[in-house]
Order: sequence, then C-alpha cells, then structure tokens
Amino acid sequence: MNSNRNSHSPPPRTIVVTGGSKGIGRAICKAFARPGTTVYFNFLSPETTGLETARDISAAGGIPVPMCVDVASEAEVTHFFKKISDETGRVDVLVNNAGITKDSLLLRMKESDWDDVIRVNLKGTFNCTKAVARLMLKQRYGRIINISSVVGVTGNSGQANYAASKAGIIGLTKSAARELASRGVTVNAIAPGFIKTDMTAEIFEKMESDILSQIPLARVGTPEDVAGVAVFLASESADYITGQVIHVNGGMYI
Ligand code: NAD
Repeated sequence: MNSNRNSHSPPPRTIVVTGGSKGIGRAICKAFARPGTTVYFNFLSPETTGLETARDISAAGGIPVPMCVDVASEAEVTHFFKKISDETGRVDVLVNNAGITKDSLLLRMKESDWDDVIRVNLKGTFNCTKAVARLMLKQRYGRIINISSVVGVTGNSGQANYAASKAGIIGLTKSAARELASRGVTVNAIAPGFIKTDMTAEIFEKMESDILSQIPLARVGTPEDVAGVAVFLASESADYITGQVIHVNGGMYI
C-alpha cells in the first residue's frame, strides 16, 4: 500500500472526468460517484447537457458539477481547473476521456479533419494533464487515467487521424508517468476495443457481424467494462502501476 495515500488523500475525493456527458465518460462518472465524492465533468456536444450524468452521480450519493468546456482550448481548461482548485483545493483523479472521430481514408482526409481530431483527443489530453499536474505534484498524490484506443496500437484504415491521436496519448501517458512518479502521481492509459456508444452506433449497425467476428469474447464492450478499469487504476490496488496501457477489448488485440 502506498503511504502517500494515507497521509495525503483525505476524503472527500475530487474526481474530474472530461467528456462525461455520455457514453464511456458517463459510465466513469457514475462508477466514481459515492457519498463524499465530488465529480466535476465537462462536455462539448451541443446535443448533451450533462443532465443524465448529473442524475447518475446524485443517485449514487456524489456531488455532480457539470461544465461545458472545450478541452482543446487551453484558456477554457485553465479556467475549469482554477474553478476546481478554488472550490476543492485538490484533484485526486483526472480521467481524460473526451474524444471525437472524423473518419475517412488517408487520401480523402481533409486537413481540418486531421487537425480537429488531434486538437480534441491529443492536445485536449495534454491541456488537462498539464493543468492538473501542478496541483497533484503539490498534494503529492494523483491518479491520471487517459482513454486511448486499441487502434492507437494496431492502426485502422479510415482512422489515420484518430489512431495517431490515440497513439500520441500513449506516448504522452508514458512520458508524464516518468515525470510525475517521484511525487506519488501515477499516469496510465486504458485502450478500449469496440464499445457500444453513440460514437460507434452507426458503424455497429452497418457491420455488426463483421465486428463481432473480430472479438474472441464474442460481444462488444459496454461503457461499464471501461469504467471498472478506471476505478481500479485509481484504487489503492493499483498504487504500484504507472505508465501502462491496459487493454479492454474482449481479446480483439492480444
Ligand atoms: P461519445 O461520443 O459517446 O462521448 C464523447 C464525449 O466527449 C461527450 O461527452 C462529448 O461531449 C465529449 N467531447 C467531445 N469533444 C469535446 C471537447 N472538445 N471538449 C470536451 N468534451 C468533448 O464517445 P465514447 O464512445 O463514450 O468515447 C469516449 C472516449 O473513449 C473517447 O476518447 C473515445 O475516443 C474513446 N474510445 C471509444 C471507443 C468506443 O468503441 N466507443 C473505443 C476506444 C476508445
């Protein structure tokens, strides 16, 4: 057991989840919510308000704080973490989950599709990690969990921008893990396989049998499959794990 947690991690705990209004982020917010826990979560999509996630967190006894924040904007991210720091004085766990896709084959990919995906997925993860790092170093405790993807390791046709952003997140994770370890801050990545959410709904409808044929466990993943691993990585049981990529993919990549 890590003595840092005993001396530096008093309840209530503060959890921050980016892209928490739906899908995997919503499940992560819910999984961390419990009495004494404040869950700050942000989102961007105009179609989501964060209301459902806020209800989930409250139902589990936690305190929800939803905010519309573009993780790709350094100014908005700085303001978001200043508010959290002013209100709670600490962040125990940051989950960098916000992400988008803009798929097309390489030769047809527009510069803006490349830039948008890299800005949100990779720069967004950098912005939030940088903003929280000072606070976590000061408190000598922190858990940063970055949501990468199986395609960040395998690549995928039609997803050069997305796969590059997710591979970049793995490099960022390993580098930050090395930089922050001496002050009790761990940084790990989760690489989900095919998880059923709004992001994958359309492709699942079109290619269900093809997708299932690539998954040895013969089912697609649920947001809860990913959320459970995030909770584990933030738990005392994972105190000696840093710089790792945990694959949650039903055996899609072994
Ligand atoms: P989703 O589309 O259901 O939800 C994405 C969330 O990110 C939403 O809350 C949205 O508002 C938020 N978001 C988007 N752009 C943002 C921005 N600029 N700033 C702040 N928030 C923003 O997606 P999901 O399937 O739940 O995916 C969540 C994460 O998991 C993403 O990083 C995704 O790349 C990753 N992932 C998903 C799968 C999958 O199969 N669904 C597989 C591997 C990795």
